[in-house]
Amino acid sequence: MVERNLHEVDPEVGALVTAEERREFDKIRLIASENYVSRAVLEATGSVFTNKYSEGYAGKRYYEGQQCVDPLETLAIARAKALFGADHANVQPYSGSPANLAVYLATLQPGETVMGMALPAGGHLTHGWKVSATGAWFRSVQYGVDSRTGRIDYDAVRALALAERPKLLIAGATAYPRIIDFPAFRAIADEVGARLLVDMAHIAGLVAGGAHPSPVPYADVVSTTTHKTLRGPRGAMLLCREALAKDIDKAVFPGLQGGPHNHTTAGIAVALGEASTPAFREYAHQVVRNARALAEGLAAHGFKLVSGGTDNHLILMDVTPRGMTGKAFARALDRAGLECNYNTVPDDPRKPFDPSGLRLGTAAVTSRGMTESDMARIADWFGQVVSVVEDPDALDRTAADVRGFCAGFPAPGIAIH
Ligand SMILES: *Cc1c(COP(=O)(O)O)cnc(C)c1O
Repeated sequence: MVERNLHEVDPEVGALVTAEERREFDKIRLIASENYVSRAVLEATGSVFTNKYSEGYAGKRYYEGQQCVDPLETLAIARAKALFGADHANVQPYSGSPANLAVYLATLQPGETVMGMALPAGGHLTHGWKVSATGAWFRSVQYGVDSRTGRIDYDAVRALALAERPKLLIAGATAYPRIIDFPAFRAIADEVGARLLVDMAHIAGLVAGGAHPSPVPYADVVSTTTHKTLRGPRGAMLLCREALAKDIDKAVFPGLQGGPHNHTTAGIAVALGEASTPAFREYAHQVVRNARALAEGLAAHGFKLVSGGTDNHLILMDVTPRGMTGKAFARALDRAGLECNYNTVPDDPRKPFDPSGLRLGTAAVTSRGMTESDMARIADWFGQVVSVVEDPDALDRTAADVRGFCAGFPAPGIAIH
């Protein structure tokens, strides 16, 4: 029997998959948390491992038939430990948010104090922001960035930690363009008797490739997503010291989750293998060079960069000096074939649903082989779009130019040439 494929069984969903492939191929994708996974990662993620239940950990499962899952998960763990130099790795968290929740469960009682970066300053919801369970079920105090420099003020973080005595201190961000000083966070955590969680979701690929300092030697626990700069499937991992290994594993299962997503584990294993190659090191450094080139190009077009530039894959910019708001500009850019997200900037006077800024990242464009000269071209398109936001025809003409440009860069995992 030849089984019918997706397009025969469900042309409606099949057509949407094809359209999404086309969209991802035709656009300059600058959303800082996104990337293109390789064909190998896609294949592993779309494999029959999605059929299998395996609650528990290798050698101690609650279901039979683990002859293939146990070696798979063991391999993913070994690769994670080797790549990041960690004592212990758990590859089961469903995504970054549940991975962070597992750390709370492993290290805190409800109502105890956590201290993370505020969402409007670039932190993540799960770092204690009030609408998140982490802000509702724990006592949360939040640090920001210095409004003049746009950077973390480590003296202010220390003063707040001394006053509030958190049990868990969190470093890491979703919208911070600068290198984070992990030794400084470690010293503050030690001084106040806190555990240190570093959430490296955005920068994991840069850390793997040696393009950002590693938090692993400094943190009690490191959480990360696997699908951003690391270029794996949607998922997450927790890395920790041996002393916390049992508590972390128990928090993920049975504390928070049921069966692990084994197809995701397969994709993570492949991505970790790819991330340990010399080619990936080169990729990580190119991501940073591209971000710097894009930042310079945008600054030359009059956009105001938070902190004045970037050290990593990410750029945060205030577009109001060019007479725009974040949302309207992001929408116009999307029509013109340049995809990004609107974002608050530090001390943003505007509301989060229509803030002053845009957040950009170079992980995805670098996966297509674009380099510094291409970033200059992209910056020019930003300058062009800002003057034609109200002109749909002009935006559509830019989109056609962008399509032609993108055709010169193969997209990993997408069979369009
Ligand atoms: C993306 C991100 C997360 C959450 O990941 P999800 O997979 O979207 O739940 C957590 N922390 C940081 C810093 C992130 O950037």
